[in-house]
Amino acid sequence: MTSPSTLDPPAIDCKGLSFRVGNVSILDQVDLVVRAGEFHALLGPSGSGKSTLLRLIAGLEASTAGSIELFGANATSTPAHLRRIAYVTQSASTYDHLSVAENLQSASALAQKGSLPIRTSLESELIDAFELRTKLHLKPPQLSGGQQQRLAILRALLSQRPLLLLDEPLAHLQESLKHPIRQVLQRWITQNSIACIYVTHDSQEASELAERITVIDQGHMLQSGSPTELYRSPNCRTVAELFGRPCIEWFSIPHPMGLRPQDWIPITFREELADLSIAEGTATGLTHIEADRAVIARGIIRRIRQIESSLWIELETGSDFTLGSNPRKTHSLAAQSMPTIVRPTNEISQFAVGELAAFINRSIIELPAVSTN
Ligand code: ADP
Ligand code: MG
Repeated sequence: MTSPSTLDPPAIDCKGLSFRVGNVSILDQVDLVVRAGEFHALLGPSGSGKSTLLRLIAGLEASTAGSIELFGANATSTPAHLRRIAYVTQSASTYDHLSVAENLQSASALAQKGSLPIRTSLESELIDAFELRTKLHLKPPQLSGGQQQRLAILRALLSQRPLLLLDEPLAHLQESLKHPIRQVLQRWITQNSIACIYVTHDSQEASELAERITVIDQGHMLQSGSPTELYRSPNCRTVAELFGRPCIEWFSIPHPMGLRPQDWIPITFREELADLSIAEGTATGLTHIEADRAVIARGIIRRIRQIESSLWIELETGSDFTLGSNPRKTHSLAAQSMPTIVRPTNEISQFAVGELAAFINRSIIELPAVSTN
């Protein structure tokens, strides 16, 4: 296989895909682009339409609207068996009358167009990584559910099809096996320039595995981007909450925004400012002036520590956290102008005498003004 370039058409390009059953909309105008060699996670809660979308791409279901292009060719009406897709469904499907070894050989033979034994070192390595070496003589009904699932994934890889759809493939596997299998999957997909859609409802798994993630909810595509983009710049509350652990806190002043709240905010300030009533357990408002912008944080002081020349305050923010621009006052909650976005930083910047500094180490999420969810 030649290595893909960004000039090549995407391996999978879904445009405006909709699927209705009677008058019930299951998918509504979903766009999804996956390039060759890309590990793409499709993330959404149960019932959001992930499996339905895979079935449409695999050609097992016909969309009610929209188009599917595979490698630049319109495949909307192409029969499933001509789409060059390996598809591992949520419940693994294998040939029950064949042994594990024969199941793998038949997948390999499909790829090689000839009946060849399992021979390459990579294939052999895969069998070890999937911990199927001692099971080669067994038939799928003699395997556990997890082993059957691993066999189905391995069959899909060995079939060497350029498009790979995996529907929650590791959901039933023990933790200790997930990590090595993920690594093998990633390497296989990159080495063979396979376009892979990996369905999961787990944002951590999606972020760990995928270069790009598409989030769907209730049949709607919410956002598509890199794990960092989705974490730092979610376009709606649902996406922000999917990626914020523990839960994000939301504030409505001056307009909807949220704070990633591992919400202890380390704060340092000059001792000469200690005219504020600073004592553990008291509520306070603190400002960090940065250029012409100010960040105002209000909350409860949980802990005060003297660290050499500076006093550190841990402030637990509450629902009255707010941001504003340059009121140059502490205690101000009346900020009306555009909020400041504070980028995560581990640096303690300089601040002038007479100013109080709050260093916010966590992302502040500002939702686009249009977002109402
Ligand atoms: P997910 O894989 O994200 O959990 P699915 O794609 O399996 O979600 O299903 C999405 C929703 O569409 C579910 O509420 C499901 O019951 C419904 N659904 C899927 N296919 C059909 C169908 N053929 N007829 C009726 N409802 C369906
Ligand atoms: Mg599903």
